[in-house]
Amino acid sequence: MHQATTLDGKALAAALLPAQQARASQLTAALSRPPGLGVLLVGEDPASEVYVRHKVRRAAAVGLHSEVVRLPASCSQAALQEALESLNRAAHLDALLLQLPLPAGLDAGWALSQIAPEKDVDGLHPTNLGRLLAGLPGPQPCTPRAIMHLLQATGRPLRGAHAVVVGRSPIVGRPLAALLLQHDLTVSLGHSHSVGLAALARQADVLVVAAGVAGLVDASWIKVGATVIDVGINRRDKKLVGDVQFTAAQGRADFISPVPGGVGPLTVAMLVDNALQLAARRAVAP
Ligand code: NAD
Repeated sequence: MHQATTLDGKALAAALLPAQQARASQLTAALSRPPGLGVLLVGEDPASEVYVRHKVRRAAAVGLHSEVVRLPASCSQAALQEALESLNRAAHLDALLLQLPLPAGLDAGWALSQIAPEKDVDGLHPTNLGRLLAGLPGPQPCTPRAIMHLLQATGRPLRGAHAVVVGRSPIVGRPLAALLLQHDLTVSLGHSHSVGLAALARQADVLVVAAGVAGLVDASWIKVGATVIDVGINRRDKKLVGDVQFTAAQGRADFISPVPGGVGPLTVAMLVDNALQLAARRAVAP
């Protein structure tokens, strides 16, 4: 029976470690201090705590200095602004991450726009999203970069392939569509109002699912031989599951990314990569 190859994000992230360590030690010499990553964590969302721990651990493994600033879930917009301004000013921090989601009552779009674009490690400031659309250099959002890395790891040519992306958030779907276009794929971007999405997905050479709906995609959505990237992270019976029914999809796809162990570890690796890029710019023009 047909069995898809699993795209091992953990192994791919581990393979990037030596080059990142070498880059970090060059930059430490050039800056006379280790590259610095500031993380702002608002509230006590357990999933965010886990993600921040992974990011801090990877930063340490690469040789970055990192520090986590915490604010209570009840903090005011003014307090959030003050914390972001202080991190923007901190000379020893080259990169700044605002962990999302923010607690109810705080506007993530506004908060992201308060991060200095030159420290925006997630590439989610409107200026950097604009640069991405314009095809200009700048930090690119980490999860879309992770997805591109997985697609390149298949060894399949991307030019001219049809990609269907399910989910249009400013964090995943929209910037990913821009990156896929840069790599010459034909892109369809679906969302919760799309009609006939399963039939559209069935035409995809590359299917990326970032809806946050456990098990949304069954075998009938998948073209035989497709590459399927599952971005969703859903908690079900204390287990993490993706948006794709993994076993069913394995029977039709040629490549599939698992949850956990697919996009997630590479997103963390790309975050550190972006932090190194931002530090490198300051090493040239401190
Ligand atoms: P979001 O809620 O901001 O956006 C979800 C998108 O999916 C929306 O555009 C919505 O229109 C679409 N959608 C929802 N239900 C749908 C349906 N039934 N059919 C078609 N489209 C539908 O979420 P997000 O921040 O983009 O995250 C999406 C998922 O990816 C979540 O599970 C999140 O946890 C996960 N995620 C994973 C990583 C990672 O590093 N692995 C990073 C970011 C997000």
